[in-house]
Amino acid sequence: MSREDLTMTPNGNVGPAGGPGPASSAEGGRTPASGTGDVARELRQRIAGQFGRSLHIRTLDTGSCAVCEQEIRLLAAPHYDLHRLGFFFTPAPRHADLLLVTGPMIRAMDVAARKTYEAMPGPKVVVATGACALGGIYPEDPFVHGDAGKVLPVDVWIPGCPPSPLALLHGLLVAVGRLAEKTPGLTFLADGETR
Ligand code: SF4
Repeated sequence: MSREDLTMTPNGNVGPAGGPGPASSAEGGRTPASGTGDVARELRQRIAGQFGRSLHIRTLDTGSCAVCEQEIRLLAAPHYDLHRLGFFFTPAPRHADLLLVTGPMIRAMDVAARKTYEAMPGPKVVVATGACALGGIYPEDPFVHGDAGKVLPVDVWIPGCPPSPLALLHGLLVAVGRLAEKTPGLTFLADGETR
């Protein structure tokens, strides 16, 4: 995928399996949801059904310009209201299921990034967020890896500079599917549901 492709904000469709692309992962092949409402509904059902009531996100800034973080912060604003879907941000890696990585992975963050990942309990999933983390902006040099995947085992890639909140939501939906693949057979009953 070209540098230009990686910096384009995707329309939010969940792409097929493969490497960096429109919110892609090993889950691939699923039908794209059409808008925020559809994605939100599907996310809520999946989180309730597969992980009980909530899923915790730890963000990790590895040298970003902070605009990706602004978009991530918007997810918690009333319009998107990520919390109602069952996602919560946590500062503690030991409570986190999902690592949301931004920035080009400066070498000074090597140890912190690895330790954060290792402190998370399994199963866990790593989401590289934004063109920097996907290797689309900074070339590798003595100070920068230029790609989150050089240090962490990335499961899902969300392109864009920055990715829009809707693209982030789609990426999280793919990440939930990826987590479910890592926990086969594990299901929870949603509120009010009976077997
Ligand atoms: S992808 Fe773009 S918006 Fe996000 S950290 Fe990099 S330069 Fe900033």
